[in-house]
Amino acid sequence: MLSIVVPCYNEEESIPLFYAEMEKVQQLVEDEFEYIFVNDGSKDNTLNILRELAQQDHKVRYISFSRNFGKEAGLLAGLEATRGQLVTVMDADLQDPPELLPQMIAMLAADPDLDCVGTRRADREGEPAIRSFFARMFYKIINKIGQAEMVDGARDFRLMTRQMVDAILELREYNRFSKGLFSWVGFKTEYLSYENRERVAGDTSWSFWSLLNYSIDGIINFSDMPLNIASFMGFFSCLGSGIAMLIIIFRTFFYGDPTSGWPSMVSIFLFVGGLQLMSLGIIGKYIGKIFLETKNRPVYIVKETEEKVRVEEE
Ligand code: UDP
Ligand code: MG
Repeated sequence: MLSIVVPCYNEEESIPLFYAEMEKVQQLVEDEFEYIFVNDGSKDNTLNILRELAQQDHKVRYISFSRNFGKEAGLLAGLEATRGQLVTVMDADLQDPPELLPQMIAMLAADPDLDCVGTRRADREGEPAIRSFFARMFYKIINKIGQAEMVDGARDFRLMTRQMVDAILELREYNRFSKGLFSWVGFKTEYLSYENRERVAGDTSWSFWSLLNYSIDGIINFSDMPLNIASFMGFFSCLGSGIAMLIIIFRTFFYGDPTSGWPSMVSIFLFVGGLQLMSLGIIGKYIGKIFLETKNRPVYIVKETEEKVRVEEE
């Protein structure tokens, strides 16, 4: 059986289209499908659409959250609910082309050593240039300093074996950065490229700022390099000011002290003060993460599942 995890946030228009496309794909493959839609606190009619679908088709299951917990929480809930030997993760907006699935299943079947078939966008067509620029920069940085390699353009859309999914579910962290988790667990992954496509309906829920925050999360969760940078900066500014002090002492002895140069003094103060604040900010980021982890709150709270529909049927 193939379990399909679909996180949905305000996708009332996309879900029927997505489901229709997937049903077409179902005819092409041998595996039985199991849909797991995760309604991530949508404000539109998504939940009702999922209830209806679950009524019509018993392959459809859904999990509805008590509020919006974010896509990562949706992925976790969905993965935990899967029962299939194969698991795939897809967006509801058809940006992850369902017609790739048969090929992915065939790739996985053909190579017994392969644990995962991922997908990546070959291009960033239709995306604002500034967004592409920052995305590229993010991948450069994270691959230099991070503990998990992340492939530029790789989507969350991937087909995984049960074994790999179980490994991912063993990572119990609260701050979940899926792109990193998928790669951190290891296993052999091959990537399929496809041309970027626009979402079929609705709007993306990512603004530039939310993406920026997301990328900072990715870096903080998978690298302690920013902390090292803070220490290095501290070390070198100490070293620099030590040398400067020596120079000033010598100069005072040999040339006297004209007591000038307070503008340079002020700029040095500001510079050092800035460095300190920045380092504190970096440390604060990590402490914030630790704070959230130690609170041990659930990553999501479920309000309703397809059980409700099934019970009503009886
Ligand atoms: N999504 C979600 N919770 C959120 C935001 C998004 O479950 O808080 C889902 C959304 O419904 C979609 C997928 O995550 O299925 C990807 O979102 P989106 O298409 O907005 O992102 P993009 O494709 O632009 O990166
Ligand atoms: Mg999308």
